[in-house]
Amino acid sequence: MESVSSEKPPAAAVTPIQQLKGVGPKLAQRLEKLAIHSVEDLLFHLPLRYEDRTRITPIGALRPASEAVIQGSVELTEIKFGRRRMLLSRISDGTGFLTLRFFHFNARQQELLRRGNTVRCFGEARRGSGGLEMIHPEFARLDEDLSREVEEALTPVYPATDGVHQLTLRNLTDQALLWLQQDRLSLQDDLSPLQVGNESLPDLKQALLYLHRPPPDASLAVLREGQHIMQQRLIFEELLAHVLSLRQLRARARQHRAVALKTGGKLTRQFVDGLGFELTGAQQRVAAVIEQDLQKPLPMQRLVQGDVGSGKTVVAALAALQAVEAGYQAAIMAPTEILAEQHYLNFSHWLAPLGIRVSLLSGRQKTAVRKQAMQDLEDGTTRVAVGTHALFQDDIRFNRLALVVIDEQHRFGVHQRMALWGKGRQGDQYPHQLIMTATPIPRTLSMAVYADLDCSIIDELPPGRKPVETVVIPDSRRAEVVERVARACQQGKQVYWVCTLIEESDALQCQAAEDTARLLAEALPEINVGLVHGRMKSGDKQNVMQDFKAGNIELLVATTVIEVGVDVPNASLMIMENAERLGLSQLHQLRGRVGRGSEASVCVLMYQGKLSQQARERLAAMRDSNDGFVIARKDLELRGPGEVLGTKQTGQLQLRIADLQRDQHLMPEVLACADRLLLQDRPLADKLIQRWVGEATRYGHV
Ligand code: ADP
Ligand code: MG
Repeated sequence: MESVSSEKPPAAAVTPIQQLKGVGPKLAQRLEKLAIHSVEDLLFHLPLRYEDRTRITPIGALRPASEAVIQGSVELTEIKFGRRRMLLSRISDGTGFLTLRFFHFNARQQELLRRGNTVRCFGEARRGSGGLEMIHPEFARLDEDLSREVEEALTPVYPATDGVHQLTLRNLTDQALLWLQQDRLSLQDDLSPLQVGNESLPDLKQALLYLHRPPPDASLAVLREGQHIMQQRLIFEELLAHVLSLRQLRARARQHRAVALKTGGKLTRQFVDGLGFELTGAQQRVAAVIEQDLQKPLPMQRLVQGDVGSGKTVVAALAALQAVEAGYQAAIMAPTEILAEQHYLNFSHWLAPLGIRVSLLSGRQKTAVRKQAMQDLEDGTTRVAVGTHALFQDDIRFNRLALVVIDEQHRFGVHQRMALWGKGRQGDQYPHQLIMTATPIPRTLSMAVYADLDCSIIDELPPGRKPVETVVIPDSRRAEVVERVARACQQGKQVYWVCTLIEESDALQCQAAEDTARLLAEALPEINVGLVHGRMKSGDKQNVMQDFKAGNIELLVATTVIEVGVDVPNASLMIMENAERLGLSQLHQLRGRVGRGSEASVCVLMYQGKLSQQARERLAAMRDSNDGFVIARKDLELRGPGEVLGTKQTGQLQLRIADLQRDQHLMPEVLACADRLLLQDRPLADKLIQRWVGEATRYGHV
């Protein structure tokens, strides 16, 4: 479309990227893929790492596993025909020898490396069969131009994409940095002076100039660790922007109204009286906070963290009952069919005696059953709906939804959470949200990741729980393990046998479970073996789980579908195959299926082959601790928050330079700064969010 005038509001006065030399419509389009729309954006596209090409290293001083520039003359170049054809070139500079090795090469490269030529190379030195070598180094012939300079700054390596190469990015940032230096960009530093501890952080311009082109004396090691003061300046700003964007989400939610669920508490009292156990102190405390939230005309947004088995479901039921007593509906969303079905059974069992209708909605139901469930939901017969993500599909309509409970939050993305929230909207009223997770994380971290939510912790397990004893055993001792299963069953115990991922394939995992179930049934003819996996029909799964719960099945072979929430207290032995392949949080979740009754439980982690260092650490952590907090901390250390909290997959939390784990020490000051800005300088807060979080803020629009 032809635009006649270019009427852009002056407030958004950024410099279009096309003003840089060499950027036409095509490159501009490619840069968009990197979220670079303006010159200012480009400056916040920060290097991933650096290479030191500022000096020439004598070959004799080269260390293996380090990157360096070397220069020398070619002594010999030859093609070798071994298992693979390759080009080998021997370089010497009087201090030592180095071999260049190429698996792909052409005649021109061969020519450049002719004996007697002088070449300069950049690459990573490693120990080869005949001394140090570089594989596929960058190189150039120097004979004509011996005076060629080395680089003046450390060489940045940027996140790149198809058609946007390092050299392009370096060239563009060169121009942008010049403009920055000349103050020709609309980039202001509105935060400085910044102080962290007793150190003052440099200003924005200084930090950007430095980080795009660090001087030769900058320490690569310090930069690699993200510890440089110039990095700290930008990390601070990014964390701040991130916290601000979550706070903004929360502020937006607060502008909406919700139904104030005021009740006499009759139903909740009846429910607690019929439970057969006392609530723990922690359950009572958290339930009381939720009760108060729900009485307010503002949508609750509360996250409840509690270790596996801490009794989160009861707390959710109490909240649901408050909605029901006030005349509204509640929806409970679980991440797997199995868990949804189990919640359905639990809630039905608890609530039917109180005359409350509970319905299940899952993707695998028969059409007629689903139709009926939808009907009951829409006309309000159903007061509590339990389901998977099937709950927020378009054709589902609620009658008077006032509370949404999301179990095992880390399995859902923000989108899904928001979609369900939006569904409950009636006029300007939104439902309350209760979010539950079994991945407890340290406070500083949760302040950053969950800044849009109020947080409560159930920090106590029901009484009488015995820690699960965990043993780690190689797969070669399988026969012993089968023996152990037989003995446990003879003693009237129930056993899980979990077949975990062999490949990243659901089908193969189910196949493995089927095979294992058959083999175990053959080996243990006197034992009732059951099987449950993700590809079974909903009804069949339900029957198997019920049979296991009732004790008719003694040994249940399962895939990881039983990972979350499944609750059969009489099960006291768990065998996990290929445990070395699972992450810590997943192992802990799975193990949480045992240790729920009064019986002392055992978990056997079997592994195959030789363990990697990380796998060894994971299994050791499992053996040494039963505490979800300790395990979560170890998991964070090994994998980082993006993976642990599932935020990486759901695209919720993509940080450019900050690392939540590594940079936690900045959080107290970041949070204080966020509070200050929200009170005193909203426009600046918006600007920072725009700068660092940009498009991600649209999560806020429901
Ligand atoms: P999670 O927090 O992992 O979701 P659940 O809600 O599944 O834990 O509860 C685990 C088990 O503990 C269930 O069998 C539940 O009935 C039982 N339970 C919950 N609260 C208590 C309590 N206060 N005393 C005894 N048992 C409890
Ligand atoms: Mg649970």
